[in-house]
Amino acid sequence: MTFSLAIVGRPNVGKSTLFNRLVGRRLALVDDQPGVTRDLREGEARLGHLRFTVIDTAGLEEATDESLPGRMRRLTERAVEQADICLFLIDARAGVLPADEIFADILRRKGGHVILGANKAEGRAAEGGLLEAYALGLGEPVALSAEHGQGMDELRSVLEPLAERFAERAEAEAAEADVEIGDVDIAEGEEEAEEAAWAPSEARPLKVAVVGRPNAGKSTLINAILGEDRLLTGPEAGITRDSIALNLGWGGVPVRLFDTAGMRKKAKIDDKLEKMSVSDGLRAVKFAEVIVVLLDAQIPFEQQDLRLADLAEREGRAVVVGLNKWDLEDDKQARLKELKLDFERLLPKLRGAPLITLSAKTGRGLERLREAVLTAHATWNRRISTARLNRWLEGMLSAHPPPAPGGRRIKLRYMTQVKTRPPGFVIMCSHPDALPESYERYLVNGLREDFDMPGTPIRLHLRGQG
Ligand code: GDP
Ligand code: GDP
Repeated sequence: MTFSLAIVGRPNVGKSTLFNRLVGRRLALVDDQPGVTRDLREGEARLGHLRFTVIDTAGLEEATDESLPGRMRRLTERAVEQADICLFLIDARAGVLPADEIFADILRRKGGHVILGANKAEGRAAEGGLLEAYALGLGEPVALSAEHGQGMDELRSVLEPLAERFAERAEAEAAEADVEIGDVDIAEGEEEAEEAAWAPSEARPLKVAVVGRPNAGKSTLINAILGEDRLLTGPEAGITRDSIALNLGWGGVPVRLFDTAGMRKKAKIDDKLEKMSVSDGLRAVKFAEVIVVLLDAQIPFEQQDLRLADLAEREGRAVVVGLNKWDLEDDKQARLKELKLDFERLLPKLRGAPLITLSAKTGRGLERLREAVLTAHATWNRRISTARLNRWLEGMLSAHPPPAPGGRRIKLRYMTQVKTRPPGFVIMCSHPDALPESYERYLVNGLREDFDMPGTPIRLHLRGQG
């Protein structure tokens, strides 16, 4: 074991759920019987290639007659003393409660390595809480869903640099060397990392799902992509298949491809074709980072297509639209123009998302699709510095000042990016409720254009001051 991680936080935020997820089947639940006094529960956690000891403090909440704050303080202090790193969880759906602030205080005072986790972050209901979490002053929260297994890659990428430090420490100790381990600031480089697009690596493939109605051409497309991979890497090389996904190198980029078509084919056996195809698509949208909405260009924008695209937007995924069976179109230029207009009208929130014409059958357009997927993913991970944003905001405000309801002008004072994947921004504002939606749209569309962010949902939150 390289290091230990204690999960702390008020009752019900999901500590045990996360513990169980990290420990998986190697669950050390033996002492979980009635009457057995539970102490700090420990398990061997696995997160990608990281191995560490995880400590669950949930058990200590029961079986004492101390007051809740007293108990919380005691168990948190103990966990901080025992563990190398504290993962402080809040419930993003509930937002930041006074009890959370007590925890944050203790952790700030104790020092040490603290990671802030905003759990239950699946879906939009959690966005407000996620933003509130910044106010705890413990750095950028990692959005997690312990129950659905989301955010585990992000958690790992935050733990990785710390793990390296602890590994060095262990080595140094083993060598009995007298080495000082410096503090690692987990929020380090946030500003400097301006627009540093996160790139996929061997350890962390880019997660892509191809969704669409039955017969849109998903299987054909996936086979075409696999075919390319085979040409480059030899038969079957590097391709592994499990029940829900394929791992492959798509033009050299490691990709985990959610194979909704394959899942459907399996379902065919049970004669549940129609039902499964849609729900699998919906599920894939939750797993993946980039969603390729594959349309049959001959019959585009059917109800099911719109539903999938809309869900991808609501879930905050990067979206690329594939217009398949383009080989069957005659007047390609006129048709593309028409489809672009339909798209903007039917899916205004996905404005600017790339429409890629392709033929899964002939293989035309596959390279453009691949490029669009990579670009959409980079955009989705995009970070813009506060300085640039505020310069931009100033320009937007003077070009088109916000309205002045009742003679009092709404002041937009300060803007910052608070999250990525997808990009989320907060503007401090004097009367957030009075700002018309059209003005918000003006800002969002401006952000999209001026910072070149097509095909990614953009979240903008207005915050009142004081
Ligand atoms: P603890 O008291 O902090 O250990 O919290 P538990 O792990 O017992 O979880 C409390 C409740 O939150 C349970 O009903 C869980 O099923 C639920 N929960 C845990 N994680 C999540 C999550 O990621 N999303 C949602 N929606 N619920 C969750
Ligand atoms: P899925 O149900 O979305 O997986 O769709 P399939 O991949 O099974 O394709 C449905 C039908 O469309 C099959 O008959 C394919 O041969 C055909 N098809 C798929 N892609 C193309 C294409 O680019 N051009 C043409 N002309 N036909 C295609």
